[in-house]
Amino acid sequence: MSNALSHHNKKLRVPLPYDGLQFNGCKNPACSNFMVPPICEGHGNRVKDGYALTGSGRELAIRCKSCNTHTIVKSNKAIIEEYERQANYLRDNQTFCSNRECDNYRYSVEQHPKRYRSKGKGSSGNKRFTCKLCCKSITQRAKRCFQEGYVPLNCCYTVYNISD
Ligand SMILES: [Zn+2]
Ligand SMILES: [Zn+2]
Repeated sequence: MSNALSHHNKKLRVPLPYDGLQFNGCKNPACSNFMVPPICEGHGNRVKDGYALTGSGRELAIRCKSCNTHTIVKSNKAIIEEYERQANYLRDNQTFCSNRECDNYRYSVEQHPKRYRSKGKGSSGNKRFTCKLCCKSITQRAKRCFQEGYVPLNCCYTVYNISD
């Protein structure tokens, strides 16, 4: 019954795409091999594609046979998870229409002010807006600074010129 596992385990030379995305490949935009995905399955350099494998373990890299650049082989899953973590974090610092069905769910007040109508300030002092598409009222989140190592640009140092 256990069919998938009883198959001869295919050897992977580079990680399979995750969510259809493969990040391993030549990163040189001037190269004809640029972002051409490598063949994932097979034994190292016995596979004939545009790449040769070098190193092993954490040092495993692919060398582009066309332009000779080395890139460390990375886990596609880890890259996507990191991207999603950062995207969620950015979302956390902006204000969006809270209606998931609404187009403005993806467009923040901060970056797309024309998609919202200002309604002044709420009792807590936070700015309030109405979504122009679905007419939902939303309150802008309070700005949070210095959290998890995130430093917003307006918190950067100001240098005063005292010589004049
Ligand atoms: Zn290349
Ligand atoms: Zn809306």
